[in-house]
Amino acid sequence: MDKHTKIVISTDEIGVDGLQVEGLLDSACLDIGNDPRFSTEKDIEYTLLLQMLDGGLLISGTAFIALNCVCDNCLVTVEKKIHLEEIYQLIEAPIPREVDLTELIREDIVMGFPFKISCDDSDNCENYLALVETEDKKPVPEKNPWTELDNLKL
Ligand SMILES: [Zn+2]
Repeated sequence: MDKHTKIVISTDEIGVDGLQVEGLLDSACLDIGNDPRFSTEKDIEYTLLLQMLDGGLLISGTAFIALNCVCDNCLVTVEKKIHLEEIYQLIEAPIPREVDLTELIREDIVMGFPFKISCDDSDNCENYLALVETEDKKPVPEKNPWTELDNLKL
């Protein structure tokens, strides 16, 4: 599949049956570099159908990306797959000669980011529970006032 940094479609190319576009969009457009919770080296896979209607241009389709997310509980990085199954947008007439679909996909993908991240999809991930358990089992250092007095060697 072709990889793009932008998806710009010339509306002249859209025939009576519509125009299907698919490919890979560089995930750099997501601009998530400042968010330590998310990262990805993968590209966004997209399949879009553009159809001319009386009232405008209908864009529908799907997009997918594998995203590395940091678990809110144990800070382990896990891969989450974001599938957008129902991209749906109407650009009302007058339709420009060129439409840039990059922003459309970007917005939909970012809105699909998980709000709460758990490495095993439960509320409190197992790693976290294990971590809490070990903390609990740590022996509490005993403070015996007499031993401490001994230590002072009075
Ligand atoms: Zn976790």
